[in-house]
Amino acid sequence: MKRIDELSFEEQELHKQWMRLALVEAEKAAEMGEVPIGAIIVKDGAILARGHNLRESLREATAHAELIAIEAANQALDAWRIEGASLYVTVEPCPMCAGAIINARLSEVIYGTRDPKAGCVGSLMNLLEDERFNHQVEVIEGVLQEDCSLIISTFFRQLRQQRKEAKRLQKEKLSTD
Ligand SMILES: [Zn+2]
Repeated sequence: MKRIDELSFEEQELHKQWMRLALVEAEKAAEMGEVPIGAIIVKDGAILARGHNLRESLREATAHAELIAIEAANQALDAWRIEGASLYVTVEPCPMCAGAIINARLSEVIYGTRDPKAGCVGSLMNLLEDERFNHQVEVIEGVLQEDCSLIISTFFRQLRQQRKEAKRLQKEKLSTD
């Protein structure tokens, strides 16, 4: 596992460029009231698939950005293997997504910010580089870390404010009834 600042300037710029597109996906999630996490899959210098968190909209526990992107890539390639491809995701993958990344045989995962409560690519454990599995994935962390983290904290702050406001309005309504 590498941190972005261990790479050359050119490599850093390239990874940042793709991560900005993963952030665009995260913004789409935020606009839908979803926790803003976005992912893209890149192969041979082109975007193969995109995905953003849709857990609330689809009411599905598995509708994470990475899984949606992996399914789209499978469809695009008409194959379960996504070898030679890189997955960019704004937040460190959870155990479910790390499992799917291994099963899809992705070559590389690049993520923005860590998830200390569910991350399984460096925080709680590192499933992608565990040599006991039949496939290992190279990992780079910390790409546009501040932006990837800020979009999440902003989302939750706004959510808390909205809930407070809703409560206040309800109280007002009760007192005037
Ligand atoms: Zn996940």
